[in-house]
Amino acid sequence: MNIFERIVSGEIPCNKVLENDDFLAFHDISPRAPIHILVIPKKCYENFQVTPPEVMVGLSSFIKEVAVKMGLDKTGYRLVCNCGENSGQEVMHLHFHILGGTKLPWDNTNGANTHDKF
Ligand code: 5GP
Repeated sequence: MNIFERIVSGEIPCNKVLENDDFLAFHDISPRAPIHILVIPKKCYENFQVTPPEVMVGLSSFIKEVAVKMGLDKTGYRLVCNCGENSGQEVMHLHFHILGGTKLPWDNTNGANTHDKF
């Protein structure tokens, strides 16, 4: 079982924000913003690329509920989904990062030198 499945099962504790039958939101253990929440489906899909679109319908509604609960719908937030090796995805269980609570910098988000050629 991956670490998020162990959180879903209750084996590992989390600081829960919101939960329903299919999805769970909890605070990231090493926050990169004043508010940093992870949103996951309880069922494991390895990453965004292999997740069925119908799962994303429920997940996007759930993310909006989390944003409202945290007041982020008023102030704004960033959604991040690392997908696969080049993104630096560490936990192979679909998750969205909700980042907020401050004005978020937009530069240096991809780790690339601005002079790099793509
Ligand atoms: P990724 O790099 O895969 O997109 O993000 C994985 C995230 O999971 C990281 O931000 C990391 O801090 C978070 N994380 C890893 N293990 C745990 C844990 O046991 N509990 C919580 N709450 N977050 C975790």
